[in-house]
Amino acid sequence: MTDKLRQITESISGFDAESLRVEFAQQAIARCIQPITQTEQVPLKQALGRTLATDMSAPINVPSYDNSAMDGYAFSGSDLKQGHITLKLVGKAFAGHPYHPTVQTGECVRIMTGALMPRGCDTVIPQELVAEATEHSLTFASGTIEAKSNVRLAGEDLPIGATVLHKGRLLTPADLGLIASLGIAELTVMRQLKVAFFSTGDELRSIGQPLEAGCVYDSNRYTLHAMLDRAGFEAIDLGVVRDDPVALENALREAGKIADAVITTGGVSAGDADYTRALMARLGEVMFWKIAMRPGRPMAFGKINVNGKDALFFGLPGNPVAVMATFYFFARDALFRLQGTTTERLPSIQAISSHAIKKRAGRTEYQRGVIAFDSTGTAKVRLTGAQGSGILSSMSEANCMVVLSHDECDIQAGQPVNVMPFTGLI
Ligand code: AMP
Ligand code: MG
Repeated sequence: MTDKLRQITESISGFDAESLRVEFAQQAIARCIQPITQTEQVPLKQALGRTLATDMSAPINVPSYDNSAMDGYAFSGSDLKQGHITLKLVGKAFAGHPYHPTVQTGECVRIMTGALMPRGCDTVIPQELVAEATEHSLTFASGTIEAKSNVRLAGEDLPIGATVLHKGRLLTPADLGLIASLGIAELTVMRQLKVAFFSTGDELRSIGQPLEAGCVYDSNRYTLHAMLDRAGFEAIDLGVVRDDPVALENALREAGKIADAVITTGGVSAGDADYTRALMARLGEVMFWKIAMRPGRPMAFGKINVNGKDALFFGLPGNPVAVMATFYFFARDALFRLQGTTTERLPSIQAISSHAIKKRAGRTEYQRGVIAFDSTGTAKVRLTGAQGSGILSSMSEANCMVVLSHDECDIQAGQPVNVMPFTGLI
């Protein structure tokens, strides 16, 4: 793949692995991915967050019959004429309890929402628009209602044969309801992607171990596990690996054997990259990039091959916030592509910056922020304090990421900025 990757990167003008624009790296990654093809059948209830493997068409009309959109009275629109209209009340139609006879000219039927429109009727007058209703008749003024009002026509939601959902769609609660309305109990989805991950670093301790001087608890495995889980991937936690070439090689082989993609954190910064690079050259084809971004910067991307089986590889930086930023802006999209998901893209909206933000042109900067509407209904964003790439508390406080693009310079207070809300991501 490196050859392929190298060809792709060389075809992007201005591609510079020592200071790579975020968009170039994203493009290069996207172009390298060959989606998996395996599918599986799942019951509808288990399909939330799974990726539809085939186009889905409607086997029936939804709704399957013309029905009333209101509680009121059904009659024929041809009875609408000048002056007061009086109709003879001949029966009742409730949801699930149709009125079977044909309704004649000058007649009407009491009808409830969802009830089948009786033969001979094409119009419903809501009960609150009726001037007078007795047990036997109904009176209302002409002009109160137009012919064919308040009727939901067969197939108006989904006509039979129409493609209702496309292959590659990440299924939402509304989609599940839609599929249920078609009477479909089981569907074909892409199999779930398996993503193995581990942390590297001699200073890392797992929760439960004593924290000696100079050590930190490994937090990256927890954020990674949570981010993968949120996205619906199967997260396989392979623990902490020491900064030792043999241990690292063994862990990568193990991960490559069992997973579709492998994510590591740490060990790609300037000092470590060389020996990781030598190891990777044996295991697969991996490129090391310095991304023009903050937080983030060093990152490795490629594939490892174990026993003839490929796995995508992401070597993310070690700093906890850099892990999250590189996961969201590179790995997440790539994993969805690998899984055959086509609809999942990060959301982006605009908000007014509440204060000035220092920004250097020539790199993409991600700042942690809190977005809220002010009293005039304007979306405003403020930053959450210290933005160092190791400071997770300001990430935890944030509900969005302010995304300052490569060429942008200092932002003045009151200027609009692009914001990625975390809703559903974090
Ligand atoms: P590295 O990229 O390995 O040089 O790590 C950069 C910084 O991130 C160092 O301060 C590490 O201690 C810290 N770090 C690396 N991995 C983790 C982790 N799994 N959990 C928390 N901090 C980490
Ligand atoms: Mg390290």
